Amino acid sequence: MTRTHEVTNQPPPFTGYDPRSGDVLLRTTVAREGGGWIDARAGMLARAVGSEALQSLAAQANRYIPELHTHDRFGRRIDAVEFHPAYHALMSTVFGAGLHALAWTANRDGAFVARAALNYLWNQLEHGVSCPVTMSFAAAHMLHAVPDLAARWEAKLLTEDYDPRPLPVAAKRAVTIGMAMTEKRGGSDLRANTTRAVHITVNDYRLTGHKWFCSAPMSDAFFRLPVPNGA
Ligand SMILES: Cc1cc2nc3c(=O)[nH]c(=O)nc-3n(C[C@H](O)[C@H](O)[C@H](O)COP(=O)(O)OP(=O)(O)OC[C@H]3O[C@@H](n4cnc5c(N)ncnc54)[C@H](O)[C@@H]3O)c2cc1C
Repeated sequence: MTRTHEVTNQPPPFTGYDPRSGDVLLRTTVAREGGGWIDARAGMLARAVGSEALQSLAAQANRYIPELHTHDRFGRRIDAVEFHPAYHALMSTVFGAGLHALAWTANRDGAFVARAALNYLWNQLEHGVSCPVTMSFAAAHMLHAVPDLAARWEAKLLTEDYDPRPLPVAAKRAVTIGMAMTEKRGGSDLRANTTRAVHITVNDYRLTGHKWFCSAPMSDAFFRLPVPNGA
């Protein structure tokens, strides 16, 4: 390394800090609203968020962008999106911390406050994986309303684990759920969507339309919002 001059006006990297310990507002609000039981887990997540190791993973996950592979090397259609290992490490951390599941599984007062605390801390690190974790969280509520789907998916959605392998749900330890809602004319106002769903058999619909915003394409399943029966 060539030495030039001493740099005295630049801060050191902002790592090795705990974004929760000094946040009096966060700690007192969470306690006041009944979520104080999350403190130990929130503390662990906070220290991870402030660590050099996770900040480095976040930087890599954003620098090395996902690659779409339409075919494998033998010409078979696979439509796989390859993410950098750093992305998977972040997904393991955030799903392992239960950000997608805790509000539904804790079964005690303050569960949504506790989730909000974890989410608030995580979002100080990296937003890319916040999307799949939030979609999975939201999907759990809708899934619960459909008993036969819930029987197959719910336990694997709500486990505090992450399994990126592109396998059928039955073969997986854990699943994520994405959303394909947004259309060119239906963003904030999803009532403007024009994708049609036509009933084929008891559980099958044929969808015809153009969804154009799908930020977690390797999710195991997707929620969509079509117009039923071509109405
Ligand atoms: C990073 C990222 C990831 C995303 N991932 C997904 C995904 O995985 N799946 C998916 O389905 N979608 C995804 N989206 C799309 C997202 O949900 C839409 O961008 C969102 O619903 C807003 O729609 P729009 O972009 O069409 O904006 P529009 O609805 O066209 O809104 C444009 C502007 O008009 C304003 N506006 C809209 N309606 C009103 C109103 N009634 N009154 C006053 N102001 C209004 C809005 O505030 C905004 O400023 C993603 C978006 C981003 C940015």
